[in-house]
Amino acid sequence: MPKSSFVDFKAIKAAITMEQVIEHYGLLDRFKKSGDSLSGPCPIHKGSNPTQFRVSISKNIWNCFSECKHGGNTLDFIARMENISIHAAALKAIEWFNLDPEAMAANADQEVEQPSEAPKAAAASQPKPAIKSSPPQDNGTPNKPLQFRLDKLVHEHPYFGVRGLTFQTLVDFGAGYCTKGMMAERIAIPIHNVDGKVVAYAGRYTGQPPEDAPKYKLPQGFRKSLELFNIDRAIKEPADKPLIIVEGFFDCMKLHQYGCRKVVALMGSTMSPAQEELIRKHTNSHSQVIVMLDEDEAGQAGREDIAVRLAKFCFVTVHVFDRPDMQPDQLSAEDVRSLLNP
Ligand SMILES: [Zn+2]
Repeated sequence: MPKSSFVDFKAIKAAITMEQVIEHYGLLDRFKKSGDSLSGPCPIHKGSNPTQFRVSISKNIWNCFSECKHGGNTLDFIARMENISIHAAALKAIEWFNLDPEAMAANADQEVEQPSEAPKAAAASQPKPAIKSSPPQDNGTPNKPLQFRLDKLVHEHPYFGVRGLTFQTLVDFGAGYCTKGMMAERIAIPIHNVDGKVVAYAGRYTGQPPEDAPKYKLPQGFRKSLELFNIDRAIKEPADKPLIIVEGFFDCMKLHQYGCRKVVALMGSTMSPAQEELIRKHTNSHSQVIVMLDEDEAGQAGREDIAVRLAKFCFVTVHVFDRPDMQPDQLSAEDVRSLLNP
């Protein structure tokens, strides 16, 4: 039991999605996704009809149209599955998803509260005819700052040795190995928006991921094309330093470790219009940008396009590695020094 018995139900409901909860029970592969809804057999009364239990993804609520004749939010679902109170369900959610109730409480003060229809759905006495489907998040919607922090991340793990990252670098990025919750057995890397707010955690599996599990896990609904990893810090570096653009988190962390702090990662080998706009906003015609993608097919194709687009408003250099399949995180400290001070 946590020290304090105060639990902010609203913040917990906002911090987790029905999809994550279903995944926690290992049931996600029994569900079908169609537009805004997930449907499958009801896990509460253990039904078999594949359409009797439905989840509205955007509203983050569920309904069982069969035996349960009931619906509700994430906490109602956990409470029913575990046959426990809402309060106990909230404590379970904190434990399973590694939520930090204190950070959530602090964030809740600053955040504009999102109207939630879930409690009403839970309280409704007559069964709802259907969960109204609404389109998934509007394309113009920015990623919302997270209401929680993953705490107890471990900064020491053999994988960090393999990737050549030091304890200090992990501390600098707030990244670490996660032992439990939805990021269990993954390296959790916080992604900050340009204002320095954490908008997602990327979870990198440390070994060969199990079948069907992705190498990188990103939250449902998170749009990485709207963010540039490390941009919040890169823009605080001196204007006369070149901005280095790399593909991945590890490239970015490695260059940072070697003293090259003005670096951002695309989280892929292409540059989205929103990422281009972010770079444009924080550069001028005197700014220098070095595009340093992986020396593979995707990287080569990506860098050509990126260079052409950025050259319209800043001074661009494309870095070409002399070895195939080379990527920035394989550079030595020496390499990076000579590269930046040719
Ligand atoms: Zn049911």
